[in-house]
Amino acid sequence: MSRLDAEEIQKELDIEFLFERESLPYKMSRGASGMQLNAKHCPACGDSRWRVYLNADSGIGNCFVCNFPYTKMKFIKEYFQLEWREAFDKAQELLKEQGWRPKRIAAVMVDHSEVALPYSLELPTEDGLNLQYLEQRGITAEYSRYFGLSYCEFGWWRFEEDGEKKRQPFDNRVIIPVYDLDGKLMTFQGRDVTGASQRKYLFPKMLPGTGRFLLNGQNVHATQEVAMGEGFFDVAAMKIAFDGEVSLRHVVAVGSFGKHLSYGAMDGNDQLGRFNQLKARGVRQVTIMWDGEENALTAALNAAKLLTGIGLVVKIALLPAGKDPNEVLPEVVVRSYQDAKVWTPTLDIQWRLRNPYGKKK
Ligand SMILES: [Zn+2]
Repeated sequence: MSRLDAEEIQKELDIEFLFERESLPYKMSRGASGMQLNAKHCPACGDSRWRVYLNADSGIGNCFVCNFPYTKMKFIKEYFQLEWREAFDKAQELLKEQGWRPKRIAAVMVDHSEVALPYSLELPTEDGLNLQYLEQRGITAEYSRYFGLSYCEFGWWRFEEDGEKKRQPFDNRVIIPVYDLDGKLMTFQGRDVTGASQRKYLFPKMLPGTGRFLLNGQNVHATQEVAMGEGFFDVAAMKIAFDGEVSLRHVVAVGSFGKHLSYGAMDGNDQLGRFNQLKARGVRQVTIMWDGEENALTAALNAAKLLTGIGLVVKIALLPAGKDPNEVLPEVVVRSYQDAKVWTPTLDIQWRLRNPYGKKK
């Protein structure tokens, strides 16, 4: 292979894909210089104590036991035990295979910092149990883990108001954590599982509202494409649908918590500011997947205009009338995503004048 091909490998080869392909144990975390892959085994010295750290994008890193300096090519050479020429052939083979992408189910490491969640059981439990309520909604154990869900059977959120210690019950609720892009826990939602509560969702008092964050934004890394749904169950349905379609496994689903994008904060502490940060991480395209409904589409046009203004390519997906991603089959979510239209000023006028969901005139 020519030198150009070596550069191509260094640029394009997905190190996470290689680990998935070979079933090599690894963890993702956010390091000082971007996402980091922490591998259990060092192919160079054989150590299995999680001492290998590689930059997830560049593949550059080393083993802290034997000090072997890794690059993507050196990793391939050591791991497959090949001569250089064979290692290049192997890398080329891997690149071809990358058309097939594994599910991105390893969530980034998160930091619970100052927010102490109500006492709750992590899902799945140590015995691998998931909540039936979630299973019935298609959210299997691996997705409960991906989104960091837990179950509060009986517990309180403890907070201080006017110098007084208070507590707010979150009994019988799934706790949905909300992280900032850096993986720091900011707030959470409690979803009633009994169907008996007046309030489907409960929000902890005295914590910042969800409206400035992006649900699952912490898992946006090494991708150019995100899709934006509304609430947790829409985001989960989108994630599951994309994972089921090989060509969409690189798309990360995030949630806006409402059919509105917050913007205008001087310090960028709002959703538009967070999309700006995602753009700096390499995101190029956002597809809005709110409800298939007249007002939701108008809201999507407004959001699309804002996001286009910061230099992103924005598409709007049309869900079937009256449905959101959580209410249709995965293949319908996939088709809506694939058929989404790029927002342009012309499309904006067209859809505002003649809303596809509007009453037939
Ligand atoms: Zn080593």
